[in-house]
Amino acid sequence: MSTNLMDDYADEFGPEKIVHIYEPKSKLQAIVVIDNIALGPALGGCRMAPNVTTREVFRLARAMTLKNALSGLPHGGAKSAILADSKTAHKEILIRQFAQSIKQLTDYIPGPDMGTDETCMAYIFDEIGRAAGLPKVLGGIPLDELGMTGYGLAVAADTASKILNISLENARVIIQGFGNVGKATAEFLVERGAKIIAVNDSKGAVYDPKGIDISALIKSIKGPNRVQGSKLGENISNEKMLEIESDIFIPAACPDVFTESNQHLLKTKLVLEGANIPITHDAAKQMHERGIMIIPDVIANAGGVICAATEYQGMPETQAFERIKVTIGPNTQEVLRLVQEGKLFPHDAALRMAKERLDKAMALRAHM
Ligand code: NAD
Repeated sequence: MSTNLMDDYADEFGPEKIVHIYEPKSKLQAIVVIDNIALGPALGGCRMAPNVTTREVFRLARAMTLKNALSGLPHGGAKSAILADSKTAHKEILIRQFAQSIKQLTDYIPGPDMGTDETCMAYIFDEIGRAAGLPKVLGGIPLDELGMTGYGLAVAADTASKILNISLENARVIIQGFGNVGKATAEFLVERGAKIIAVNDSKGAVYDPKGIDISALIKSIKGPNRVQGSKLGENISNEKMLEIESDIFIPAACPDVFTESNQHLLKTKLVLEGANIPITHDAAKQMHERGIMIIPDVIANAGGVICAATEYQGMPETQAFERIKVTIGPNTQEVLRLVQEGKLFPHDAALRMAKERLDKAMALRAHM
């Protein structure tokens, strides 16, 4: 791999701008990658963590380009990172300085991501008048409170289960990661009659083949409590949970959970990618060859960004739910059609769908 990011990644879509920011007084260090703006100003999260690399920010920005295009949003893709511990006492100062530093990057609309929240977006909005994922009082739609990403995953489950003949009634579901996305997904799937047989967090898993009482589990993990403290099932290790047989497996924790070395452990029929890039490219190919269907992250977890874009356009939360349904349902259907008819691998099928829309938009851009 070259040391020059452009040598490795620059292609027909971007990245358009890579900006490194250093502000000596506040000691703010940040990276902004605006990947593509053919569909409109780029919308993408602002992450706060000490060790994020420019390559990582680019990969996340590209994922946003694809996700926004697939979701039919009038937005390109971008991502940013403030290189600091998100628990720093100077958080507000850094966020406000970051906002001032991106004031002239009018093609970039930041949203919340790991280490930032609606309050951070309110500071940015206060400084420069643009941000998504705002508090309710400023017109925001509380996406985690409403479980928008989880709702989108349930919509993907509705469509995929019909096409693949997996009844959601009594379907055995495993959810990896019981945070904002995992909890909401569990609730929406329980409403559909599914049995959540195992869930975990970073400290361990609980397993009950008869189905875990999800509302009791959510109540029991308030504050610092972990799923294993709930006594709502057998406590097992995170490694063991990956080996339990299920109908649907939902990774909703972190990237690169399944690699070529452990993908063989997974015994399921359908994977809905809740986290971003939870399965490496090669592992996903091997799973596909083993007959496991995967609905890729850029389709399945788009509920959050659809909600953020709906908010940015000044529309209400009812509209966000509707948009998620009419976007993720047909996208799931289309990706499955391409996979089943064209013998394409799911991530390549999703890429083809996104590129079709991007190509049309790119063709309308001027040559400068
Ligand atoms: P969160 O921080 O609320 O929850 C993450 C959960 O995963 C926690 O329960 C944590 O303990 C658990 N976890 C972390 N590492 C783990 C591991 N190695 N094994 C098992 N569990 C582990 O985060 P979230 O908002 O729910 O987001 C989860 C993932 O989904 C992230 O990858 C995020 O980028 C992605 N995502 C989130 C949204 C959203 O709307 N919040 C939208 C799209 C994608």
